[in-house]
Amino acid sequence: MENGRTTLSTSGNLTPMLPSLTRDPEQLDGKLLFAIPKKGRLYEPSVALLQSCDLKYRRKHRLDVAGCLTLNVAFVFLPAADIPLYVSQGRVDLGITGQDVVAEAQVDVDEVLRLDFGKCRLCVQVPTASECQKAEDLAGKRVITSFPNLTRQFFKTKCPNGDAATVHFVSGSVEVACCLGLGEGIVDLVESGDTMRAAGLHAIDEILKSEAVLIANKNSQHQDLVKVISSRVEGAIIAKRYVMVEYNLRREDLPKAIQVAPGKRSPTLAPLDDPDWVAVKVMVPNHDLGNILDSLKAVGALDIVVYNLSNTRP
Ligand code: AMP
Repeated sequence: MENGRTTLSTSGNLTPMLPSLTRDPEQLDGKLLFAIPKKGRLYEPSVALLQSCDLKYRRKHRLDVAGCLTLNVAFVFLPAADIPLYVSQGRVDLGITGQDVVAEAQVDVDEVLRLDFGKCRLCVQVPTASECQKAEDLAGKRVITSFPNLTRQFFKTKCPNGDAATVHFVSGSVEVACCLGLGEGIVDLVESGDTMRAAGLHAIDEILKSEAVLIANKNSQHQDLVKVISSRVEGAIIAKRYVMVEYNLRREDLPKAIQVAPGKRSPTLAPLDDPDWVAVKVMVPNHDLGNILDSLKAVGALDIVVYNLSNTRP
């Protein structure tokens, strides 16, 4: 015990002393530690992603750590905004969090993969009736945000002659700051824009685009396991992004069909009994599926069948 807290030995290069993890310390010993957002917008999609990668765990009630049932891994549930710091210091090996909080934390971590969820933009916003039309108009005014580092950096480059905005930190509900008189503008995340519009605000500039990412400590002692997990996660993301399309086609129409749907690497061809015809199997991005099927049809594809992918491995 140290200061009344159990010291846990972990896979990382440092020894964490996390009070909420002390009830079952054996669970961490020698394992790769993987930080998952414990609540908020990133929690559910992160847990769903783990499930689709067969990274199963049993989490006891109110416990912030859970051993993985399939790999030598323990999941640690932490606030999304704190995960970059834990990963950069090697307190955990891997983490899922937003690019926005990684940039705000100003730490050095490996961005291993973009995860295709938690997409948003960090925007400068002012009341719709404000005379400020662009970020530079907020020079000398008060800007309220939960992202003080990114906001100060942004206004320093926008107003290089010294008269940048004064930046004040609040921990949440940033959108109410202007109507309560705390500031003339805010910097906050925007997804659909509904919250911003409901608060009588509009965006006048964008600081960055963000989505959820898998990040890794650069010196993790579990590089092999990091690679295994990254490959599983990548496979699960591809499975969500693509569908498998099969169709029959006259051989002479193949060049046109391959132009329409070239596949991830290349389509698979199988001969039909009729030598003039071929069966084609190809992965197609599902965001544009309707147009691609229409175009395949137009170049002569027949008997088109579409399958969902439950998993892939790159
Ligand atoms: P949390 O505050 O725990 O809900 O996590 C917030 C994280 O979710 C942010 O750091 C972003 O990466 C992501 N996110 C995506 N869309 C939004 C949004 N509209 N507002 C806030 N966070 C968002």
